[in-house]
Amino acid sequence: MKALRLEKIGKLAMAEIPLPRAGKDETVLKVTHCAVCRTDAKMWRIGHRDLLLPRIPGHEICGISEKTGRRAVVWPGRSCGCCEPCRTGAENLCREMRIIGFHEDGGFAEYVRVPDSSLLEIPGDLPGSIAVLAEPLACAVNALQQADMAPDENVLIYGAGPVGLLLAMAVKAGGGRPFLKEIRPEKLQRTESFRRRIGALPCEQKRYDVVINAAPSTETFIEGMTRLDFGGRFCLFSGLTDDRRVPAALLNEIHYRQLRVSGAYGCTRAQMTSALGILDDFRDVVELLIEARIPLASVPVVLPAVADGLALKTIVDF
Ligand SMILES: [Zn+2]
Ligand SMILES: [Zn+2]
Repeated sequence: MKALRLEKIGKLAMAEIPLPRAGKDETVLKVTHCAVCRTDAKMWRIGHRDLLLPRIPGHEICGISEKTGRRAVVWPGRSCGCCEPCRTGAENLCREMRIIGFHEDGGFAEYVRVPDSSLLEIPGDLPGSIAVLAEPLACAVNALQQADMAPDENVLIYGAGPVGLLLAMAVKAGGGRPFLKEIRPEKLQRTESFRRRIGALPCEQKRYDVVINAAPSTETFIEGMTRLDFGGRFCLFSGLTDDRRVPAALLNEIHYRQLRVSGAYGCTRAQMTSALGILDDFRDVVELLIEARIPLASVPVVLPAVADGLALKTIVDF
């Protein structure tokens, strides 16, 4: 089969490799769609903590089970099922976690081998090109759960890239009011129709119940904390990549105004099932997020723009 393999950092090449074979409790999936994530572009450019090379990347996967003939999306993990996080429904934090597309081969290939337990059936006639966004949307759902977002709350999101926009959609689906802050005007311009359709407003001079960063600058944390109402919650969705110091006076705001800071990393199967439901409800709007459908061979061409955060969602259509 054809596959795109990351041989070393910076070198993603098409290869002809043997078909994967399903082991015990595994399924081979014929990949129909795989979305390109900014993490894929970053691992191509600079690597990733959880990456083992050589590797076929791609963790936003949709396909047809060779076993059942049914369409499914993939929860991109292989969890142990017995550790404390697994037993308490936080399998995204499994102590033995192996991530598909990082530790194991992913969806930039005609076929992928996945654990049976990672398959989630696609409801009804939801197109695969939309369902394939279940994983990134589920990560957004996780962030809102970690931040205990309630209906009618005002939620400020830093960053209007694909993930920031999916966060805004998840806020809307959960009955909250999304606000977006984006420093690059060209990004606001190209996402105007999507933002209008989901009612995501520009950041106003007011206090928010929840703030989430979908951008890696420490400034988002420093400014975001000052915008929280008393009892407000900040969710660190994106890791911070600069070493800017957080002033103690800001941390004291946590004390004086009883703020809370939580983190969110990845998603659970249950959150992916919720995400599939949201995608079904918002399928027309989600179309606006899809910038291009490309063949597998074109992935290396789009990676620079994805890495620079300029692109909306690009989907490999097999
Ligand atoms: Zn992703
Ligand atoms: Zn586990």
